[in-house]
This record gives sequence, C-alpha cells and structure tokens, in this order.
Amino acid sequence: MRTPLVVANWKMHGTLGEARALASAVRDGLKRPRAEVVLCPPFTALAAVAEILAGSTIGLGAQNCHWETQGAFTGEVSPAMLAELGCRLVIIGHSERRQHLGETDALVNRKVRAALAQGVTPLLCVGESADERRQGLTFTVVEGQLRAGLGGVSPEDLGRCIVAYEPLWAIGTGVNATPAQASEVHGYLRGLLSELASKETAQAIRILYGGSVKADNAGELCREPEIDGALVGGASLQAQSFIGIVRKAAARGGSHPKE
Ligand code: PEP
Repeated sequence: MRTPLVVANWKMHGTLGEARALASAVRDGLKRPRAEVVLCPPFTALAAVAEILAGSTIGLGAQNCHWETQGAFTGEVSPAMLAELGCRLVIIGHSERRQHLGETDALVNRKVRAALAQGVTPLLCVGESADERRQGLTFTVVEGQLRAGLGGVSPEDLGRCIVAYEPLWAIGTGVNATPAQASEVHGYLRGLLSELASKETAQAIRILYGGSVKADNAGELCREPEIDGALVGGASLQAQSFIGIVRKAAARGGSHPKE
C-alpha cells in the first residue's frame, strides 16, 4: 500500500512573513496527517519554513534545482544546497519551467540524477498540452517525458523517484482532469515504470496527480487506486484549502481521518 503524498507548490508566491504564517497554519492544522505532506516554498523562504516545520511530520521541498553540486552558475541552487537545508524532495520538470524557461528533457534528466546523487527525492512532472490531447498524443508525450527524464537511472534508484502527472490544460485553469482521465494516464505510467524497473518497484512508486486540485475534487481523484496523492499549486496557498486536500487524500478508501 503506497502512502498518500500531498505536495504544496507555492510557486513564486509569498513574502517571508506570508510563508511563515502559511507554514505555521498548515503545521498546526495537520498534527497527525495520515498522508505524507511536503511544502515547497520559493528558495528565499526555505530556511524560514524549515525552522517552522522542525519537529513536525511535514517535510520541506524545493521547486527546482541545478544539476551540478557547485560552480559558476549564477542564480542557481544545487541539490546539495537543498539537502543541507533539509529538503527531502525537489520538483523537477514542472511544465511552467519547460514552457517559460526552456527546460528540456535532457536538462530534466540531469537534474533528476543530480537530486538522487544528493539523497533528495526527485518529483518528476510530466503532462500533455490541450492540443496534444486533442491530437491523441497524450500517451506519446508522457511516455517521452518519463523515459527521457528517468534515462540512465538505475532500477534501484527508480524506486526513490516520485512522478506527477500534470496535464498542462489543468494547471491553474480550474479545469481538473476527471478521475478516469487521470487514472488512465497513471496506469500507463505505472506500466512504463514496470518496464524501466520491475513490477514490484513500479508498484511502490507514487504517482501524483496535479492540475486544479481543490478540497472539493481531491476526494474523488485520490479514491482512484492509481492516484497516490496530489501536487497542488493555487489551492496550497491557503492553509484551510490545503489541509482539506490532505484530509481527502489521506482518506483514500473511505474513512475520514481525524488529526
Ligand atoms: C502546479 O503548479 O503544479 C499545479 C498543479 O497548479 P494548480 O494546482 O494551481 O493547478
């Protein structure tokens, strides 16, 4: 049984004061979450949020990393630096970085391998655009991104990765994939992971859904056996809506957990 995971992607939002307040509210509202929870603030707030989460069950993550450990890479942050701050996870290959910052599959792959080398879990994002879905290319696109993103990763290390299926047409649009649409792609991705690693390893890898997840749709999405939790953007910026999503994800299978 895979432990549900809910990851908050705060994107480029929040002053230090806002980040501290949001992290404190999430921590206090989720004393004993029956799901793994990770907050990914902007780099500038990582240290402050780390202090607030210290001693809680809520983990710290980052939204991006470089592929080298150190060097002349102005403006970049390495996985080693993230590990030092206590990040357990890093989002890699988010569609906003692919779209707006020219991040290619080759770069994504280097980042995935660099994160693994530093003991930081890569959360690899894949997903098709609306046009690609209309053209029937969904599986082709996500397969290409998955195979390229995980290229050269040993079967053992594959077991340390997390994947997020985030259709571009659902990110920040208010239009989420239906549980059936998401589940179909998750099942396909898990089949590919079986090929790349083994059936056992693939069964243990968590595949999250991302794209307009809110407290009122998280339940039906996370009830799908193939959906192991959520990567949440907009709705993670308000403590109560994020806490609501975590509760729904933790309740996979029916019963509503009490924190
Ligand atoms: C995201 O940025 O990963 C995301 C899923 O955003 P939103 O929840 O706002 O659609």
